[in-house]
Amino acid sequence: MDTVTTVMWFRRDLRLTDNPAVLDAAAGGRVLGLFVLDPLLWGRSGDPRREHLAASLRSLSESMGGRLVVRRGDPAVVVPAVADEVAASSVHICADYAPYGQQRDVQVEAALKCPLVRTGSPYAVAPGRIRNQHGRPYQVFTPYFKAWLAHGWRQPVAAPTDVTWAEAPSEELPAGSVEAGEGMALERWRSYDPAGYEAERDRPDLDSTSRMSIPLKYGEIHPRTMLAGLESEAYRRELAWREFCADLLVRYPQAAWKPLRPEFERTAYDEPGSAYEAWRSGRTGFPFVDAGMRQLAATGLMHNRVRMVVASFLVKDLHVHWKYGARWFMRSLTDGDLASNALNWQWVAGCGADTAPYFRIFNPVAQGLKFDPHGDYVRRWIPELRHLAGKQAHEPWEHDTGDYPAPIADHAEARREALRRYDAIRS
Ligand code: FAD
Repeated sequence: MDTVTTVMWFRRDLRLTDNPAVLDAAAGGRVLGLFVLDPLLWGRSGDPRREHLAASLRSLSESMGGRLVVRRGDPAVVVPAVADEVAASSVHICADYAPYGQQRDVQVEAALKCPLVRTGSPYAVAPGRIRNQHGRPYQVFTPYFKAWLAHGWRQPVAAPTDVTWAEAPSEELPAGSVEAGEGMALERWRSYDPAGYEAERDRPDLDSTSRMSIPLKYGEIHPRTMLAGLESEAYRRELAWREFCADLLVRYPQAAWKPLRPEFERTAYDEPGSAYEAWRSGRTGFPFVDAGMRQLAATGLMHNRVRMVVASFLVKDLHVHWKYGARWFMRSLTDGDLASNALNWQWVAGCGADTAPYFRIFNPVAQGLKFDPHGDYVRRWIPELRHLAGKQAHEPWEHDTGDYPAPIADHAEARREALRRYDAIRS
């Protein structure tokens, strides 16, 4: 009897454990594991994401005995061609909920001669599923969170034990020095203790958050695996923020680059000039902001509290549109994720869902003094300030600035200007 061959098309689910789409694909017999390097997505990614993706693909291929087939090109052409090559009976995917991914999958489906089977999502609860009593999506996080908890999720599933991976010509994977993959993600999660998370999560100096955003972004681990047996309510809440962002983006795809609250389209912004350049390169003269931007440049990551402060600084102190900051983040972050990034930028800019009121404007110095109380985070990323002890590093102008730049803005005046512009869109 002829063996049936299916195609497992990997995208944002670069793992074999707890991947129901792989189980579905493997039920048929032989599986061809495929990844398509889409020039459009590759072109939009910055180096941190490209390097991590390549490393994650190498690791996935190793776990398949080196059989992952990588092809470059438009998925609407490549996937049907590969399916034809092996006379596939079906192509299996984990559903994508981002605007481009959804559109692409519809095109691929139309071009295929066999069914495209969607199984599961990169979320514990698929975006679009949680609705309020009127059948509408939640705009406020806390009721969404309660409904999300009440909805619940499935238990994780094991990796298939006896897959026969089919062979086909494959492109070489880009080489790199970064290490990544499912094994590392599981190890990191098993060794992380969220007991102190609630008390310490806002402290960039303590480095006590999980750093799971990267494996979650590439699907090296599924949030279900993390939620199983998770006791920290505070940590569950953050995973739910990730799902809330995805839920909003499915409902409002334009939220990727446009304000969710339409009145904010009228906000007056400044063109991104030299102040924006100073922000990008971590030379604004505000130590907490600069430390964050330099951490981003050096590591492809930034602590969440600092992301909020640098974002607020760009929008409300420098009066630059949040879309420029969001774009820079997407190029620079290894965990850059359209939904989490855009909706968090909108949250900070005051134009998104469940945002803090616009007039609550972070003071970048006070934030530093509060969340980096000994100045350790600032000194770690800004060598020019290492001569200043303790919290002095947050206010170098009061002591000895050395080679560190003077502040490029007057926070009190910038704040008043932000409020003036806000009043203008309300009148
Ligand atoms: P932990 O504190 O250990 O949190 C655990 C997990 O919960 C994270 O891995 C993440 O998946 C999720 N999470 C935590 N906070 C948030 C949040 N506010 N929104 C959504 N999910 C959250 N996160 C991204 O994954 N990709 C992005 O592109 C991104 N851009 C951001 C831009 C701005 C302006 C801001 C303020 C936040 C952004 N975040 C983004 C959210 C958050 O900063 C990161 O998820 C977090 O810093 C990652 O570090 P961690 O894994 O150690 O987090």
